[in-house]
Amino acid sequence: MNTSLKRLGHAVFAAAVLSACGGGGDGSGAAPGAPAGQTAPATLTDARIVADINFSNAGFDIGPDGRPVSNQRPAGTWRWPNTPAQPLLVHIPAPGNAVEQDLADKVNAAIKTYNARLGAYLVLEATSVLPAAANVIQVGYNNAWVPPGSTDYNSYCANVSNAAGFGSTIVPDSRNAITNPVFMNLGNHHCNVTQEIVNHEFGHALGLAIHFDVFGNTTAPDNVWDVLATLYGNPASTRIENLVVKRAAH
Ligand SMILES: [Zn+2]
Repeated sequence: MNTSLKRLGHAVFAAAVLSACGGGGDGSGAAPGAPAGQTAPATLTDARIVADINFSNAGFDIGPDGRPVSNQRPAGTWRWPNTPAQPLLVHIPAPGNAVEQDLADKVNAAIKTYNARLGAYLVLEATSVLPAAANVIQVGYNNAWVPPGSTDYNSYCANVSNAAGFGSTIVPDSRNAITNPVFMNLGNHHCNVTQEIVNHEFGHALGLAIHFDVFGNTTAPDNVWDVLATLYGNPASTRIENLVVKRAAH
């Protein structure tokens, strides 16, 4: 969880340094079940939603020449393909103990919340069987990436990566799709994986590459529903200036 991500130069995005997510923030935005008394995040303006997508998704890996670096992908947004017609599978391994059961329960709760808010654009589907070849988010228990030598377990409580237990961020393919498995590494044996953290990691797994002020800000709840509704309510490779803002369900 750190604002230093915002200061990372574009050139170093691929250096396997992203994805530090600790506690803080609420993560659930105005989701059902938010703690009583919590102030609901303000509604984001259309301009704000577009700017957030530009920062965290479409523009996260723009090189010096103004073109995306990863896989020579086209300009514009990137995301999981074929939604909502094709569900995005979430592989939840069989829990082996009470701690893992708790993590599995929180993943299932997150899926329920995401489907309630974003179901018009994106459907998540839990599976206990690892699909051979499919769009899938693979959940792992207590395998979050912690930098070598670090004991800052709270700041590295969970992350999303392109390999289990690894620290490198996911990148889109050459057609602006997420087509390889994405790994959601939850917990490190030394931190408290809250529901808010699990909800937050789904934001990363859906294509929000970089924290911004209503995503991963330790002093304010996440508020990414309309950002994700807009990302998934427009086709991949939509250019920022052509985005049609969509709103999540309440
Ligand atoms: Zn994060």
